[in-house]
Amino acid sequence: MTAIRKATKTVKKSAVRRPAAPKAASQRGPLATDRVSAILKSLDEAYPDAVCALTHKSPWELLVATILSAQCTDVRVNMVTPELFRRFPTPQAMAKATLPELEELIRTTGFFRNKAKSIQGAAKKIITDFGGKVPQTLAELTTVPGAARKTANVVLGVSFGKADGVVVDTHVFRISRRLELAKGETPQVVEQELMKVIPKDRWISYSHQVIHHGRQVCIARNPKCKQCNLETLCNSNDKTWSS
Ligand code: SF4
Repeated sequence: MTAIRKATKTVKKSAVRRPAAPKAASQRGPLATDRVSAILKSLDEAYPDAVCALTHKSPWELLVATILSAQCTDVRVNMVTPELFRRFPTPQAMAKATLPELEELIRTTGFFRNKAKSIQGAAKKIITDFGGKVPQTLAELTTVPGAARKTANVVLGVSFGKADGVVVDTHVFRISRRLELAKGETPQVVEQELMKVIPKDRWISYSHQVIHHGRQVCIARNPKCKQCNLETLCNSNDKTWSS
């Protein structure tokens, strides 16, 4: 009896041996977990101190600067905001300014008439609905004139350390697609894709680092692939050099 039981056990053991299960989708392809980790690690190495380039001293100033940065460089915005905030340092002061005064101060950022209306509208909204303080939720912030989802994500992430989404500007849009982390045709779709593939605790830093990468290396035309520490991880058709 004993011998028979032993033989049965042996048969069962060998029957359990099966070919290795195929890897889960998250472990293969461009969105493989280890590939995404390698991309994040390379970004950390290249841009360990990446922060928001818009000069600001408060959430209010950052909100205004971010509204002004639409279709404009951060460098240009940083040239106009010191005088703007000297003249109108608070939402209360900005709410009382005349539109021509605001327009004159922000003229060089482009679309200055719309932007003047937006920043004054933002000031009034923050006074009437939020007690003069910039709100700290995406739902509230996106009710502020001039603050669409991208602007709200910038303010939440930079001023309050809150990641409710991923900031997708022109650099994040372009580079996330080049790195095959996203395929979407719009920033909104790309953001949703990134939120699935990038760990939440990296949403804020990912955007800052990729924005720096886009300005310095992975520029829109003729990216500097020879200088790029992500080159071995990148299969983009836009590559100008391959190792
Ligand atoms: S290899 Fe070239 S295209 Fe790819 S991320 Fe680097 S700079 Fe951009």
